[in-house]
This record gives sequence, C-alpha cells and structure tokens, in this order.
Amino acid sequence: MRHTLPPQLHVFVRDWLSANNVLLKGRDRHVLIDSGYVTHAPLTLALLRSERGLGQAPLSLLVNTHGHSDHIGGNAAIRAAYGCPIAFPAAEAPLVERWDAKTLLYEYADQEADRFPIDVRLEAGSTHVWGDLEWRMLAAPGHDMGALVFFNPEHGILVSGDALWENGYGFVMPRAIDPAALPATRATLDMIAELPVRIVIPGHGEPFTNVAAALDKAYLRTEAFEADDARMARHALKVVLTFSLLARRAMRIADLPAYVARIGIYRDLNDAVLRMTPEALAEMLVAELLRARAVRIEGDCLVPAA
Ligand SMILES: [Zn+2]
Repeated sequence: MRHTLPPQLHVFVRDWLSANNVLLKGRDRHVLIDSGYVTHAPLTLALLRSERGLGQAPLSLLVNTHGHSDHIGGNAAIRAAYGCPIAFPAAEAPLVERWDAKTLLYEYADQEADRFPIDVRLEAGSTHVWGDLEWRMLAAPGHDMGALVFFNPEHGILVSGDALWENGYGFVMPRAIDPAALPATRATLDMIAELPVRIVIPGHGEPFTNVAAALDKAYLRTEAFEADDARMARHALKVVLTFSLLARRAMRIADLPAYVARIGIYRDLNDAVLRMTPEALAEMLVAELLRARAVRIEGDCLVPAA
C-alpha cells in the first residue's frame, strides 16, 4: 500500500551516506528534520532550494533525530545559509557540545562531521508544532542512546530516524561495549509497537505503512543479537565499513588490516568481542560483505556495490 502524507510534508529520500530529509512546510514557518552527510551538504542545500523544497522561502528551524554523522552533516551549512536555529535531542546535546567524537561515532568510526551549535533542546515527552502539525518527542534509545523519534497522533506518522526501518534498524553496540544498548533497543521497539502508527518515515529508505511487518523483522533481528554478541559486532563493523566505502568510493584491500587496527570502533569491538588478528578481521569483513553483495572488488580495491 502506498503511503499518503499530509501535503505540507515532503520527504527527500536519500541514500545510505545521507539520511532522509523531512521538510515540514507550515503556513508561516518551515522546519527541516535531519541534514544528511557533510560531503553531501551542497546537494542537501540544492534540494532545499528546489521547487519541491522551499524555493526562495526561509527555513525557520532545523531539527535532528540524533547526532550521527549522516543526520547532522549539513547542520553547519544549513544554519549558515538560512540563519535558522538547530533543535537537538536534549539527552544527546552534551555529547555534541563537548564534541565527543567517540560516542557520536565520528573519527572513532572514520566518519566526518562539521561542528555545530545547539540552539534548542528537545526534551522527551514534550510536544512541538512543525509544519502546522503536533509532534510528540519520544525517547528512542538503542542504536543511539540519546535519540528521539517524533510522533504525530493526528495522522499516525512516526519519524523514526534509525530506530526503525522497513528492514531493520541502525546497528547497535554489542553488550561487551555497551550493556544498555540492546535492552534499550527492545524497549524502544515495544514503545513503538504501542503507538497507533500508520506511516513510518524512516531515516533511510522510503516511507512505509506496513508497520507490523517492520516490527516483526526488527524483533527477529533483536532476538538474533540477544543470542550472539559476536554477530552484533560483525554487523556493526560491516555497516561502518560499508559507510566508509560509500564515503571514500574505494579502499585498497591490502590497506584494510592496518585500517581495522587503527580505527577505534574496529579495534574496540575486535578487542572486546571478536578477538581476531587485524588480517583475519579484515578478511572476514570483506568475505561477508561480498557474500551479501554489498561490495565488489575492482582491481586491488573494494568498492560499494551500489
Ligand atoms: Zn544513526
């Protein structure tokens, strides 16, 4: 079934390097949710200025679901271009203010981000009017412990960020790294399952209406993770490596052992969970990504399949 969204709401469906941008056009205030990856900021600005976007109209507010690089990368550029304030989940604001590049998975995961100020703190439980619609701020810890999702009860719209996608959710840290993350993931799914959601606007992929099927898949994934910390670690590292491949377009296969020995998230998850040599870790990640058809080999390089 195709989704129907209120006319003042437009979703720019992006790729995996940039999260989706959700534009909420109100009678006199326009609001954007999430701003993509930093290297895509010129494209994000061009979409905003397009006819489907704002055209020549001003932007009143930029909002983030959470602080990961693919959701906040355009923040600094959009704030500079439109002079609009940035509203950010209160629980995660301290990490941004002290620029905790480890917890926010920036340098720690070989991801780039431009520093930005937070003008408004969004508290879980509060309600905000964006695009002439009321949105409830709901805490959605798990993939990101400070994340919010935004729910509009009138139309049953959930802006879910990386807490729920049509086929899964954003990777979660293994218990050996953060024992709270996977239980929080399950609790967040339980919270969403209790909401009368009709349409989900995810952080990645098209909006979807088959919420029950998405929740079933998310619970199955959660059960598999609960049974196997190593599976979580491999999944997280495959996601992060695919992201870096998209950002860099290609990586030399011969350089990967040194790379996974150097970049913090690979080192920490390997030390805590997988306990492989860097060579074996790199080989395993490449083999599993090839099997999943997420990557291809071109000459002596690994490249994204897409
Ligand atoms: Zn995320």
